[in-house]
Amino acid sequence: MEKNSFQGCYEDQPTNISELADVLSSQADFDYTIEQFDSGNTKVLDATDMTLRERNLILAYSNAGLTKQLQRNEPELLRKLTYNLHESLKSYDEKHSKYRSLWWEIDKFTSCEVPGALKFRDLVESYTKVPMHEAKTVFDNLSLTIITRDILAFDKWSEMSIVAEYIANRSLYGERLQHHHYGSLLNPSKMDVLQTSHEIASTTDLDLDMLKRVKQKIVRSNFGSLDRLVRSPIASITGTAGKYVHGYLRFDLHFDDNGNEILVQDKDYAVMNISHELHHATSAQSRYGAGIQETTCGLSIGAKGGAQGVSVNEAMTSYLTMLTTNPENEKSTDLDIYKKYSYPVASLAMSMLHERYLAGHHQYFATLFNAYYGDIKSKDELQEALSVYYSLESEVLKDFFETNQ
Ligand SMILES: [Zn+2]
Repeated sequence: MEKNSFQGCYEDQPTNISELADVLSSQADFDYTIEQFDSGNTKVLDATDMTLRERNLILAYSNAGLTKQLQRNEPELLRKLTYNLHESLKSYDEKHSKYRSLWWEIDKFTSCEVPGALKFRDLVESYTKVPMHEAKTVFDNLSLTIITRDILAFDKWSEMSIVAEYIANRSLYGERLQHHHYGSLLNPSKMDVLQTSHEIASTTDLDLDMLKRVKQKIVRSNFGSLDRLVRSPIASITGTAGKYVHGYLRFDLHFDDNGNEILVQDKDYAVMNISHELHHATSAQSRYGAGIQETTCGLSIGAKGGAQGVSVNEAMTSYLTMLTTNPENEKSTDLDIYKKYSYPVASLAMSMLHERYLAGHHQYFATLFNAYYGDIKSKDELQEALSVYYSLESEVLKDFFETNQ
């Protein structure tokens, strides 16, 4: 019997390639992300699960000074955001209190004059009778937690509207901050990503509808909220670069070193990360099954904890990113070159698969590339291509360990 289960080197659990091929070849809801985006129902990627439409609504009330009307007309929205903020802060541990991150951020955003931050700070200080910037020396994590939970007890509309105004403004601030630092790189990267997809698609006979969708998605793709409360707590942000969340056509670039300021990376590094996230955004995404976590993204299915196909999906994404940003490396089999990119072992394996396709040995690269965009002619063919990819990846990994012993 053929091997059905593989654990890629970037996977937390084995991938069942038969199930993966089955789900990918039955996906059908390809326009979902575009429709969500256009209707404003795309989440802005913050701790409260706020959508763009909700953010715009709060900002419209807030900017017009209509706080009372906001409280009266949108009680469900205020309750949702406060409740979700409350829930997202709950993951408490001694070292990394998210409550501390929230307080630190309110203080920081007050000095940056982020609208809504001052009102939230005053609200907190009226509870504690301690200036916010002194709070971190006065209170331990447990006290911060108890006080914040009290404030977010969501029983007063006036307090909930302060929280909502702050939440909406901080999301917009994070988005603008990324545009400020990296906005000039975004449009050129979109053009380059599109060009890479087109160039390869012309050699793999990708369905034209899929290619049309790539363009529709890339023009919409944008930065998200850059929310530290979703990401790691302040102390452990180092090392992460970008994040695309399935289905939202929004991504974040988080280059903070110590959480004080966005750390501006050199241009090449930023372009590489923008391209990587854009490739994810242009890949096929569809819903399947009944759960909210059940989405496909490129060659992977499911989300954290239950994700499958992560290695092969990141392999295609990182390899396409390399072709987009440094096409002269295309034929290299030197792993050191790939180490400049994320998922080096996987992208080298994908590069080798492409090389064999170009040399006429087999079709597997074309099968995976087309499937990445949702064009799947045969489930069996896809499963075979996945099997060949995973075997190749483990060979590359073995070589890597042998040469590094
Ligand atoms: Zn990725």
